[in-house]
Amino acid sequence: MIELRGITKRFDGTTVLDGLDLDITDRHIVTIIGPSGSGKSTLLRIIDGLERPEAGSIRFTGDNSRAKGEAAQGSDTSHSPLEVDLANASAREIKQLRSRVGFVFQNYNLFANKTVLQNVTEGLIYAQGMSKSQANKLALEQLDRVGMADFADRHPSTLSGGQQQRVGIARAIALDPDLLVLDEPTSALDPEMVGGVLQTIAQLAHEGMTMLMATHEMRFARDASHHMVFVEHGRIVEQGSPEQLFDHPEHPRTAEFLSSFV
Ligand code: ATP
Ligand code: MG
Repeated sequence: MIELRGITKRFDGTTVLDGLDLDITDRHIVTIIGPSGSGKSTLLRIIDGLERPEAGSIRFTGDNSRAKGEAAQGSDTSHSPLEVDLANASAREIKQLRSRVGFVFQNYNLFANKTVLQNVTEGLIYAQGMSKSQANKLALEQLDRVGMADFADRHPSTLSGGQQQRVGIARAIALDPDLLVLDEPTSALDPEMVGGVLQTIAQLAHEGMTMLMATHEMRFARDASHHMVFVEHGRIVEQGSPEQLFDHPEHPRTAEFLSSFV
């Protein structure tokens, strides 16, 4: 279990996240939906230590029983309990947090001057201190997981958006995170590229990766999520199974928001 408590963030006096609590069950895919500006990206960035909140904590309970065979082999990342006071975290604690969280960006954020393989090995060598040959082997396995092993020697600019995003996913999962965070991973893609990336995400879910994803892909969210969270003005309005939110919403705002997608 991963527990977020009291996440509060203000920009220039405006409250963007208002004491938000959220539990993420191991091996589940949890989807965050909500209007533009509701605080989804801010929340995800806080979880990866990219943004510091005014208050809030994250706790990894450490009982993630995911199949280690699927995870990075040879990595000695621990999956022990960890609690971080996000408002007051030291640089060392932020580094620890980052070792637990993989981040997939909307715009891929690949290194343009490195090959696909080097994009994945970079973190393994520099953040985890892995040898180059070990990192290459592991990176190729991760690229294979997302169907991109044949592109290992290419540069990002020679790939489609969907292919670049799958490399972004391989890079994030290579570090064997406890939680994979995805911020609208398909929203920058041409429509015909979306399916392949969603299929990769569904495959990771099937393998037991714990994921927290902000998305506007309502059909995918409905089909793939274990749990959905509707956020507005930095607060959770309603959360539950996809069936509950789509078919039996308790809050009128949930119904109104979801009806704008059909
Ligand atoms: P979208 O669906 O458009 O991606 P979102 O739910 O991800 O929206 P956020 O990006 O988290 O929304 O933004 C929440 C609010 O915080 C917005 O009002 C935004 O303008 C504000 N905000 C985000 N980052 C900053 C920043 N660095 N400085 C000032 N305000 C910011
Ligand atoms: Mg956003």
